[in-house]
Amino acid sequence: MQADLDALAEFREPDAEGWTRRVFSPAYTRSREWVASSMGDAGLAVKRDGAGNVVGALPGSSSGLLVTGSHTDTVAGGGRFDGPLGVLAAIEVARCIRDSGYALQHELRVVDFLGEEPNEFGVSCVGSRSIAGTLTPTHLASRDASGRTLAEAIASAGGDPDRISDAAWTPGSMSAFVELHIEQGPVLEDSGIPLAIVSGIAGIDRVQAIFSGEAAHAGTTPMDSRHDALCAAAEAVLAVERLASGGVGTTGRLEVFPGAANVVPGKAEMWAEFRSIDRAWLDERHEGFARAAAEAGARRGVVTKVSAMSRTEPVTTSAEVRAAMKIAIEGLGLQFLVLASGAGHDTVQMARLGPVGMIFVPSAGGRSHCADEWTGPEYVEAGASALLATILALDAR
Ligand SMILES: [Zn+2]
Repeated sequence: MQADLDALAEFREPDAEGWTRRVFSPAYTRSREWVASSMGDAGLAVKRDGAGNVVGALPGSSSGLLVTGSHTDTVAGGGRFDGPLGVLAAIEVARCIRDSGYALQHELRVVDFLGEEPNEFGVSCVGSRSIAGTLTPTHLASRDASGRTLAEAIASAGGDPDRISDAAWTPGSMSAFVELHIEQGPVLEDSGIPLAIVSGIAGIDRVQAIFSGEAAHAGTTPMDSRHDALCAAAEAVLAVERLASGGVGTTGRLEVFPGAANVVPGKAEMWAEFRSIDRAWLDERHEGFARAAAEAGARRGVVTKVSAMSRTEPVTTSAEVRAAMKIAIEGLGLQFLVLASGAGHDTVQMARLGPVGMIFVPSAGGRSHCADEWTGPEYVEAGASALLATILALDAR
């Protein structure tokens, strides 16, 4: 697996930082020829679906699908583990099963999902959306800066726009999906524990607040007669931080108008988000933020408009899949934590088709989406072993 991780990392964009291999780049397209041939070498029958997913299959004796995989694209300046670990471990699992002569009951499918990371078309999880049947004509018609559509880009990456809708799988056909991924945070490393069973994947509630006050001269307008839009926004930013207790909340963007040092701000716009695996918590935070922002505006005679921008519901992993993971990991004599994922994954899309689960391994220093992204060989081995044992436990049911 270490050799595979090293080999895949060599497919990188020549003029970019780190281990960059963005979806639709020539490096990415070439790397997936390598992925497909690795799948073939491991005994998998390999197909490229209409949406550009690389799918390998190992036959089973009865019906039902067990599916595992992840993605091999990276963010700009990204690392060697976010995504590739889950694909290469899945191929290793297939290789171990083939070499042992073990007869699977379920068909095992290994998937390298096309383009999981956000791209210039503004659509993440392109491949897993297509398999889950949630890639819409609107997504496919979206254009990048050069005017190219997402459908055209998919064709350039080995897909077939006329067959994209054929990539969707039938809901209920999948017995389980399991994804191995790096944690991308510090919790496992800090606790010295090699594995986590993921309890759920956080939903995201994004809101925008626009504060409209009154621009005025910064030297001649007395403090008690101002309608300072930025001061109202600043209170709302701190409200996000206060409300985030029990989950996470971030104000990632704030714009101030007219944005001059000698003018009392007349207008401020902020974009904030809350993440949690608890739907009710997200609802409460959404309302709590709207109230806090309105109060902050009212105190200053500033008009406040809060609007919902987007909402992704949390995904809970399957209790049955988590139980199989627990048996598998205990059988290996390894320790684990139960963690929620604050980052999105292909697993979110696959949850539409059937029961899902995720296993995390530690990220050195909690670092991810950077060139230093690192997971030690002992953790790579623990993660791949846990994935294999989980697949076998699920197959035996
Ligand atoms: Zn990832």
